[in-house]
Amino acid sequence: MKRDIYNEDHEAFRDSVRKFLERSVIPNAESYVEKKCFPRELWFAAGEQGLLGLGIPEAYGGSEAEDFRFAAVLGEETSKVSGALNSCWGIHSDTVVPYFVELGTEEQKKRWLPRIASGEILCAIGMTEPGGGSDLAALKTTAVRDGDEWVINGSKTFITNGYSADLILLAVRTSPEKKARGITLFAVEATKEGFSRGRKLDKVGQDESDTAELFFENVRVTDAEIIGELDQGFIHMMQYLPQERLGSAIANVAHAKQILLETVEYTKERKAFGQPIGTFQHNKFLLAELVTQIEAAEAYVDKLVAAHVRGELTAVDAAKGKWWSAQTQSEVLDHCVQLHGGYGFMNEYRVARAWRDARVTKIWAGSNEIMKELIGRSLGL
Ligand SMILES: Cc1cc2nc3c(=O)[nH]c(=O)nc-3n(C[C@H](O)[C@H](O)[C@H](O)COP(=O)(O)OP(=O)(O)OC[C@H]3O[C@@H](n4cnc5c(N)ncnc54)[C@H](O)[C@@H]3O)c2cc1C
Repeated sequence: MKRDIYNEDHEAFRDSVRKFLERSVIPNAESYVEKKCFPRELWFAAGEQGLLGLGIPEAYGGSEAEDFRFAAVLGEETSKVSGALNSCWGIHSDTVVPYFVELGTEEQKKRWLPRIASGEILCAIGMTEPGGGSDLAALKTTAVRDGDEWVINGSKTFITNGYSADLILLAVRTSPEKKARGITLFAVEATKEGFSRGRKLDKVGQDESDTAELFFENVRVTDAEIIGELDQGFIHMMQYLPQERLGSAIANVAHAKQILLETVEYTKERKAFGQPIGTFQHNKFLLAELVTQIEAAEAYVDKLVAAHVRGELTAVDAAKGKWWSAQTQSEVLDHCVQLHGGYGFMNEYRVARAWRDARVTKIWAGSNEIMKELIGRSLGL
């Protein structure tokens, strides 16, 4: 189905992203898996190409793309190559950057944004704690006032880019009695005394992303490191989570679509009982269903992207796009594994990695259950 949200400029940008990925990422894909991270040289190369600063104004060293569709194109193309690359770059550029650009003071923007755009500063966001992630308002990491400073104690877990991040956008409790209205966001530099990280977590998928637990023991920060307003962190997160969820939805669809197209090719070549396996009616019909499912999901997500560009994306619609695309991705990739037979279970086949990588999309950035909770509430339930 012909898509209608991207124009010539977006497609030219897509071309340049593809060339960058072919040149700088694909040849080294295996080494990223072995190291369980993307090396800093790759971040620098992406920064040089302007890929990390799409949402950052030129005045602060960014490439200041005119609308979110450029970020969407980048998300699609990186997802086709590696599920993990998209999550690492996405957290850095699409999730963390808007907080700095839209809520940061002039001093904060000058201090961090140029180096975020260049890849010199790598960002993470710390919301989830070992005690729970879905119930964000119940987070327990605290920042307690001590003279002119704040003293942070607590820990965060499952943090994408956590092992290598230089700057963590951290959600902490500043007013214990106020629950959701007592949370503040701080930008914590990894050089701070009292900050430490656990090992790279051993995950079922997304092998190349470095995911870690972070510890804060009497870490001292000042008001100059508060992002947004004191005690308004929960409200700020609610404001920016829809864009993060839309980014997930874009990636979920692009990732599954790419593997599905590769699977169609595979079923044309692989033979059983003297004929290509794709030509058995069962498989032909299955592939027809999967292609329809993906295109329907893509059309819905495209509509969300267009709404976001107009400034009209709602939290509830973003939740619909996130859970539905994650569910579709999961179903499509499971069938793709099945169509590959035993090879589908071998890590050397892209379909196997994709299937593993995709499992987390129903969990992170708000699980499918939490997305349905949000949608259910909008129905007055
Ligand atoms: C690879 C990876 C990367 C991640 N990256 C980051 C990151 O960069 N930053 C960050 O802050 N977090 C990150 N996360 C954390 C992620 O967002 C959380 O895992 C997620 O929000 C769920 O929280 P939880 O794991 O504590 O599960 P829990 O909150 O303990 O939930 C467990 C189960 O209960 C269900 N549940 C909870 N509440 C309800 C309810 N009201 N109704 C129905 N079901 C419910 C959940 O849906 C889930 O199925 C990452 C996680 C992973 C696995």
